[in-house]
Amino acid sequence: MAINFGFSEEQELYRLQIKRFAREVLRPRRQEWDREKKRPEAMVRQAVDLGLLDIEMDHVTRGIMIEEVGYVDFNCALPFLVATEPHELKSLPGLPEEVSRPVREAVQAGRSIVAVGFTEPSGGSNVAGFKSHAVLEGDFWRVNAVKNSISWADADYFIITCRTEEAEKGIWSLSNIFIPKDTEGVSAPRVFDDIGTHGAVRGEVRFEDVRVPANYLIGERGKAYRMMAELFDTNRAYIGLKCIGAAQASVDETVVYAQDRVVMGKPISQYQGISFPLAEAETLLEAARLLCYKILWMRDNGLRHTKEGAMCKWWVPEMTFEVVRKCLTIHGHYGYSSELPFEQRLRDILGWQIGDGTSELSKLMVARAMFTKAGVG
Ligand SMILES: Cc1cc2nc3c(=O)[nH]c(=O)nc-3n(C[C@H](O)[C@H](O)[C@H](O)COP(=O)(O)OP(=O)(O)OC[C@H]3O[C@@H](n4cnc5c(N)ncnc54)[C@H](O)[C@@H]3O)c2cc1C
Repeated sequence: MAINFGFSEEQELYRLQIKRFAREVLRPRRQEWDREKKRPEAMVRQAVDLGLLDIEMDHVTRGIMIEEVGYVDFNCALPFLVATEPHELKSLPGLPEEVSRPVREAVQAGRSIVAVGFTEPSGGSNVAGFKSHAVLEGDFWRVNAVKNSISWADADYFIITCRTEEAEKGIWSLSNIFIPKDTEGVSAPRVFDDIGTHGAVRGEVRFEDVRVPANYLIGERGKAYRMMAELFDTNRAYIGLKCIGAAQASVDETVVYAQDRVVMGKPISQYQGISFPLAEAETLLEAARLLCYKILWMRDNGLRHTKEGAMCKWWVPEMTFEVVRKCLTIHGHYGYSSELPFEQRLRDILGWQIGDGTSELSKLMVARAMFTKAGVG
């Protein structure tokens, strides 16, 4: 089979369109969401109105969108993704059509958010130890759950992962339940004063004796872990691409600056101490980009990509953080100011060394895949 590293004509055209939109419309408001800690709904609606966020787009094209938006404004990247594909649980499978249709339409129009609640106070990494549970009582689920790290704790709807089967079944005891925020017993008592990713308010959401209809189960009963794992596998490439976007913008800006900034009689670009780290960054970003688009290509072609997603998750947020840090320091004292975007990019990228699976857990997944393979082979 021939290897083709190119994008299709439609994808190239889409890149031009979303790039122009990002640079002309998003860029001027980049600091607004960061300073005011606001969800950039207005930008999502504008992009939807221009036909830039299509739910039918393939994963590679979504990746292009995330990379170009991340290049300009990290905070817009995730809400743009959600509007094209509400957390991959896009059809809200299992929910009655009359409930799911208006929700999907509101999300795709940028008017609503469906947040995902996975992490618990006892830890996000140890999924088998989750304490949140739901019990079927006649035609209703009675849910008692605490999810303490939800991006968009102010969301209109939640999909939360709860134990619905015997604890001995471990990860196979978990199911996903859909809960509108206005349901009695839902409260969001705590919002974290995060250092970055300010476009999404992260906080704790409690579900105390919450009752929802029995058909508010998303996907199959007892299969939530598989569903979430598949969602995370692909999402890791999107996270990677928004970090790559932010880091590439930093490198591009630094290349321009290094040619202008004269120190000791020469532009600093002429010192290898400056040009080599930038050459290394450009190389690393290209390699990371290939990994991310490979993951999305695998997804589009129905191939499993758990190991690749985990590789991306531990490596790309750590690598891009270092790239941005280097670019900041090449700008000298100017870089160490919020007038330039580097400090915001560092704060934003750092969150994604944790969110959606930490570096350690991601390495554990890569190692598991390697050693399982070694055992079998
Ligand atoms: C920006 C951001 C957005 C987020 N959004 C969401 C969201 O929308 N929904 C949601 O449910 N959660 C969300 N989270 C939470 C995130 O998914 C969890 O923080 C993450 O899964 C880790 O869980 P924890 O913080 O409880 O750490 P813990 O599980 O308590 O782990 C603590 C530390 O120990 C390490 N560790 C744990 N086990 C091992 C091991 N076996 N070997 C080596 N090291 C180990 C971890 O890597 C970590 O460094 C978000 C977090 C952030 C920062």
